[in-house]
Amino acid sequence: MIEFVCNSCGERYPENTKEYRCKCGGLFDLAPIKTSFDFDRQLSIQDISLWRYQDVLPYHIEEASEITMGEGLTPLVKVQDCLMGKAEYFMPTLSFKDRGAVMLVVHAKKMGFKSLAIDSSGNAATAVAAYSARAGIKCSVFVPEGTSEKKLAQIKAHGAEINLIEGPREASGAAAREYVENNDAFYASHIYNPLFYQGTKTYFYEVFEQLGGRFPDGFIIPVGNGTLILGAEKAFSELQAAGLIDKWPRIIGVQASGCAPIYRAFKDGLDTVPQIETKGTAAEGIAIAAPARGEEILKVIRRSEGDMVAIEDEETLKARALLAAKGIYVEITSAVNYAAYLKVMAENRDKLWVIPFCGAGIKSS
Ligand SMILES: *Cc1c(COP(=O)(O)O)cnc(C)c1O
Ligand SMILES: [Zn+2]
Repeated sequence: MIEFVCNSCGERYPENTKEYRCKCGGLFDLAPIKTSFDFDRQLSIQDISLWRYQDVLPYHIEEASEITMGEGLTPLVKVQDCLMGKAEYFMPTLSFKDRGAVMLVVHAKKMGFKSLAIDSSGNAATAVAAYSARAGIKCSVFVPEGTSEKKLAQIKAHGAEINLIEGPREASGAAAREYVENNDAFYASHIYNPLFYQGTKTYFYEVFEQLGGRFPDGFIIPVGNGTLILGAEKAFSELQAAGLIDKWPRIIGVQASGCAPIYRAFKDGLDTVPQIETKGTAAEGIAIAAPARGEEILKVIRRSEGDMVAIEDEETLKARALLAAKGIYVEITSAVNYAAYLKVMAENRDKLWVIPFCGAGIKSS
């Protein structure tokens, strides 16, 4: 039985709570669950997915059996010397959001919710829409006007109801929360619900196992709302507590220059993240001007002795073309990771880095 706990006042909320954050305004963490995975154990063939790590997950494969689409255990491919790409384009909806979405939807199904809502700039909504369809839960999606047509088509195909919301990205969040309150729905938020990070942490468990029980020197991680980076925090802490690693690998967080609040706060030495005026970026999947968990994200990067980089759209498009010329055609948002690698590799020549590859080139224009 899982429990949510406020990261500010420590108040606990039961598994079936409909609150998405504490009454005091604090954000939810998950109360500690079992966090030791035996990598040497003989694993059965049914575990060829992220459910392989069910011993350290809030839900088990039996609870997910009607909802799983075999997400996870994506290949780690060599891109060039010192760089491996985690091929998240093998995910059911082509991004690592499926890792978190499956946790949220398994939870919603188990708690008996008949409808749910999510706000997102694209991929999180796509993932939640797909898993909701599978679970037979009505899904309402709130996205900013201007979201890529290809992503909208994908969401629509899964039968989700699409609400295009005018104004900045935050307006979609407000609309989703209003809907949830008025319709007795579950708020399947990849930002507020910490179950999402239990899913994204499997990205790192997989890399650890794929590299033979070790981490690379560093991970380059795109940062919008921070769902992948907060998954890293869980995985690194758990593997360290289990005595499997001595020290965290470095994390280099990547944002697009046109919308880089965490980059700004990190470079200014701040502990909190002031909202910024966004200039817009082609990397729509990471264009988050006011990340709700900004403080936590800064802490994770600092704890890893990491760094932040900001990438111009021009560099992103160039990196995307370079990757496509190597056979790997990713969506624009995902090309920032390779651009970041090209930027940092000069100083990190003999180190091994891992970056995620998401989407199909055709997901964005
Ligand atoms: C969601 C997403 C990101 C950024 O992730 P956050 O969880 O918002 O930090 C990066 N790349 C792609 C392709 C995404 O879908
Ligand atoms: Zn609280």
